[in-house]
Amino acid sequence: MHTAYISHPLCREHDAGPWHPEAPARLAAIEDHLIATGLDPLLRHYEAPQATREQLLRVHDAAYLDALDLRSPEHGVIHVDPDTAMNPLTLEAARHAAGAAVRAVDLVLAGEVQNAFCAVRPPGHHAERRRAMGFCFYNNVAVGAAHALASGQVQRVAIVDFDVHHGNGTEEIFHHSEQVLFCSSFQHPFYPYTDLNFRAPNVVHAPIPAGLGGEAFRVAVDEAWLPALARFAPQMLFISAGFDGHRDDEMSQLCLTEDDYAWATRVLHALAAEHADGRIVSVLEGGYDLPALARSVRAHLDVLLS
Ligand SMILES: [Zn+2]
Repeated sequence: MHTAYISHPLCREHDAGPWHPEAPARLAAIEDHLIATGLDPLLRHYEAPQATREQLLRVHDAAYLDALDLRSPEHGVIHVDPDTAMNPLTLEAARHAAGAAVRAVDLVLAGEVQNAFCAVRPPGHHAERRRAMGFCFYNNVAVGAAHALASGQVQRVAIVDFDVHHGNGTEEIFHHSEQVLFCSSFQHPFYPYTDLNFRAPNVVHAPIPAGLGGEAFRVAVDEAWLPALARFAPQMLFISAGFDGHRDDEMSQLCLTEDDYAWATRVLHALAAEHADGRIVSVLEGGYDLPALARSVRAHLDVLLS
């Protein structure tokens, strides 16, 4: 079986300015490394379509989509919050990013590929139903999960998020959904400073203190995520794949390595094989140290290809 690699050239045209860590060079670094290490020809490449308004409306409010469209600049860059900025091509790129997750779901549900990785930006997991934040506009992984459920082919999906930041947007969109289990590991306390006292029955938090590394991460996954995932028995598994907890990444103070990301992917791969016919859709979130990001994505894809 095959692994899809889904992206779009416009995902490199969203640019929040030369100082911004969420930069077009991230995708170039990943693709250069996959070519240099010989992995690229093993992947099936697909171009991401734009998500339709109907697909976005499954997880975002119409008024929010309209407000973003109205704010999209004709020239230059405008800020929607101190960290999150749009250039004239941002929303088009964001529609391709969300559309990648939709395409991934369709390919996996059709059995054309076993699993899929969406190499896209802008990222998505901080975007709430009616708020852009944390570099995110449309919640790509949520659009994908909602598309899978709307297909009628699956009734239960899990989203696991190992980005170093809590996936507040995904949690806000799906909290209290009986069809979605959301498991997130993250440095805590840290942006976006989610109140962990707020709990929904379908949400599993695995907070990790600054300064810790792979051992703490693996314990969190083993003890917090895996029992909940086994009980829920998802029919499809989504991964918010952020690699900004890498020890080389200056965005955070966790000390993960590509071996930890490979380990997590192996655990999730086995879980998907047991419960979900191996169906995995992984969507890029953060990861800002370019060499560490490229090596980590490669380690993640090595397992998805296995
Ligand atoms: Zn992040």
